[in-house]
Amino acid sequence: MLMVPICRVLVKLFGLVRAYEIAVEQWSGTCIHCGHPLVYAGTYLRKTPRSIGPFKIQRVLCSNHALCPPSVRAGLLPSWLLPYQRTTVEVQQAVLENVSDGTWTLETAAERANVEPKTISRWLGTARRCVPWIQQKILGELGSHHSLADWIHDGSVSWTSSLSQLFSLLTLFRNRMYRWFPERSMALVVLFWPYAFLEHRQ
Ligand SMILES: [Zn+2]
Repeated sequence: MLMVPICRVLVKLFGLVRAYEIAVEQWSGTCIHCGHPLVYAGTYLRKTPRSIGPFKIQRVLCSNHALCPPSVRAGLLPSWLLPYQRTTVEVQQAVLENVSDGTWTLETAAERANVEPKTISRWLGTARRCVPWIQQKILGELGSHHSLADWIHDGSVSWTSSLSQLFSLLTLFRNRMYRWFPERSMALVVLFWPYAFLEHRQ
């Protein structure tokens, strides 16, 4: 699975699916095994998120068939959808932010996201387990840039591992490095560290 970063302006102008199609047309990538360019190799239909309806996911494969068998293909996932999820990042994020600060109950969140309350509990559990790890990663990334290194390393900031702080940190990260990316986006985490949420699922 590979993530295609989708610019927030594209989404605003064209909607989620068309923005993804445009991003795919401009996408290029190289094989992690041999470094050759990846090429398009058909599509498959994804039925979820249901709010969006079935849409086509682009598949790619390595152009170097001598080294990498053409049977190995990867799907290009839009960055508004985390791997193996049936709800958009935007909806998941709204749930996590509003439940963690007490604005929504589990039931309200379940209704808004159109999922079972136990799904909400699972999202919360995964996100909370990920917080310290993601904070470390983001602070490391920010600290490697001169303008922020002093501020992060002089001890004047202290981070507790709460979800709301994670979202603040994500906003900072995005503002410094990816202004074109949707705000406060958990998808930014997946772009940098694709298995972040999957590894902390249970
Ligand atoms: Zn290859």
